[in-house]
Parts: sequence; structure tokens; C-alpha cells
Amino acid sequence: MNTISKLQIAYLRSRFMKPLEQLFPLLTEPKKVVITTHQKPDADAMGSSLALRLLLLDLGHSVTVISPTNWAGWVDWMPGVKEVLDYEMNRQKANAILDEAEWLFCLDFNIFHRTKTMTEKLKELTCTKILIDHHQEPDVASFDYGKSDVSKSSTCEMIYDFITESGYGDKINEEISECLYAGIVGDTGSFRFSSAHQGVHKLVADLKSKGLNHGPVHDRLFDNFLENRLRFVGHVLLHRMEVFYEYNTVLIAIPKSDLIKYQIKTGDTEGLVNFPQSIQGIKLVALVIDRDEERKWSFRSKGDFDCNTFARKYFEGGGHYNAAGGRSSDTLEMTVKRFMEALKENEHILQ
Ligand code: 5GP
Ligand code: MN
Repeated sequence: MNTISKLQIAYLRSRFMKPLEQLFPLLTEPKKVVITTHQKPDADAMGSSLALRLLLLDLGHSVTVISPTNWAGWVDWMPGVKEVLDYEMNRQKANAILDEAEWLFCLDFNIFHRTKTMTEKLKELTCTKILIDHHQEPDVASFDYGKSDVSKSSTCEMIYDFITESGYGDKINEEISECLYAGIVGDTGSFRFSSAHQGVHKLVADLKSKGLNHGPVHDRLFDNFLENRLRFVGHVLLHRMEVFYEYNTVLIAIPKSDLIKYQIKTGDTEGLVNFPQSIQGIKLVALVIDRDEERKWSFRSKGDFDCNTFARKYFEGGGHYNAAGGRSSDTLEMTVKRFMEALKENEHILQ
């Protein structure tokens, strides 16, 4: 495809990304469906993908969930997770399935580069692409149908809406409920963030009425680590956490040697960024981890500090107003230095 026609397609999509509701009548015709999500899928990414998979299987579609990378042990219990293809481990098979796909659902991310090594493959696919996501600044030009709504607590809430609004609410069973509930718990910080609006609690009440046993879901998400992970948390809080009261900011910078020493696996660092928020007066928490290929940031704020804008401006990232992520290809030392300069530039908001 030459550049002009690619641009034309992008233009047409940006004008015509159709509302998700227009897909509802088509759900009765069996399709070859791929569902994908962002790299290192969290509970919302994996839960929304697997809940949608269960619904579409029930409706007679053939469905494959492809994750761009591996995932944490605390989502590895979800119904259907054993059928999920890890793109990095099964690239050939996954590419063949992607080539055959008629529908591609993209859940819990809104720009292809969040799928890491799958990015180029997704860009070249000509099948119908469907976006369901709640992050800021979607790349709407890449999708044919979609819903992008930052007021939603989670993509799992949006999948619940998708199922009920398309008329299939009676298909929500215990398995679908567990997937949806896990994602909502994950993305609302166990219902503490303002995103846990009235509708979210009503939704959970409905899941309970459909057989959800919520206690075990919390256990599998939060009480599912090995001893070394808790020792690692202790080490990090004692030795790697710096508090800058002049900026009401906490920085945690974790070198690769810590990850090796404590045998840290995918998902073991989840939640670390939340601990410093318990210090009185802290407005911004920034966590940077020296991963193999890049330095990966997590940002969390309280009140009127916009993490999404901060992550986009300084660290090629994005996300939500009070929770975002980013990256850097500099060394850890240089990345931290750049962060301190960025803090100085933002001191008027943080003080
Ligand atoms: P976390 O810190 O938990 O990895 O991510 C916080 C939020 O920011 C999540 O909603 C996540 O999807 C989003 N996010 C994390 N990293 C990135 C990134 O590099 N780019 C963008 N656009 N969003 C990110
Ligand atoms: Mn999410």
C-alpha cells in the first residue's frame, strides 16, 4: 500500500470511527476474532479480554486472545487464560491467526505502540479494528469501530456495558463476573479512586446477583506472591525511596541488580508505586525500574497534578490524569537526573 492510500485510510477512519453500538447487530454472524491488549497485561487488560472472549465464544464466534508479552502470576488464574497466546513466545502461530482475523478487538490501550513487538503487525492488518478503552488521547484514526471513554473506571466496566447494551446481559455467568470484577478492582485501587462512581458499585451488585464470589478474587490478586517479593518491597522502601518534601514528591528508582538479587518476576513490582502515597501531603509518586530494554516509569498523583501530561511531555508515555506510565532509553542515572529537572519545572504545581 502506498503512502497516500495509507493516509487516506487514516483520514477516513478519523472521520468515520463508527460508534460501538453499530457492531451490535453484527454479533449474531460468526466471525474469526482476535482480542488483544497492552503489553504486560494487568487485571483490567486480561480480565476485559477474557470476559469478551467468553461472551463471543458463547455467541458462536471463533476467538483467540493474543497478549503482546507474558503476564503476572496474579492474573494467571483467570478463566481461559491458559488459551491466551503470548506473542513473544508464539509469534509465527499468532501472526497466522492475525492474518486470518476478520475482527480485531483492541482493549485497554488506544495506540498500537503499546503492543510492543506486535505494533507493526497490527498496523498492516486490514481487518475490522475495534477499540474499547478508557485512556486519554486515543489514536482514533487506527480504528473502524470504537468507544473511548475516560470517564469509565476500567475497560472491564466498558465490556460489562458492551455485553448488557448489546442485549446479552443474561450471558454474564460466574466466570465472566470474575474476570470483570478483577479488572474493576485493579483499576479502581479496590474502589478507592474517584473513578469508582455510583454505576461501578451498581455493576458489582449485578455481578454479585449473577453468582460472583468476590473474596477469592481479592486473594488471587493480592495475596498470591512468594516471600521474596515481600522482602523486595521492604528493601526498596528502606533503601531506594527518596522523599522530596519541597516538591511533595516521592521517587523510587530500582536498579537491575535489585531485580536479579530478589528474583523479581513479571508482576512482582505491581502496587509498589502505591505505598508512598500513604505519606501525609505527598502529591506525586514516581517509580522507575531498570528493565532490560528500557527504564519504565509509573506515576501516581493525588489532586491536581496531571500524570498523563507529565508522562507524555518528559517520558514518551501517557495514561490517566492521576495514574500514568512512561519510558526512557537513557541510563537509570540519567533518567533520574531528567526527572529531577522535570520536577523543578513543575514545582509551581507540586508545592
Ligand atoms: P502503570 O504505572 O500501572 O504501569 O500504568 C498506569 C497507567 O498508565 C495504566 O493505565 C497504563 O495503561 C498507562 N501506561 C503505562 N505505561 C504507559 C506508556 O508507556 N504509554 C501510555 N500511553 N500509557 C501508559
Ligand atoms: Mn484499564
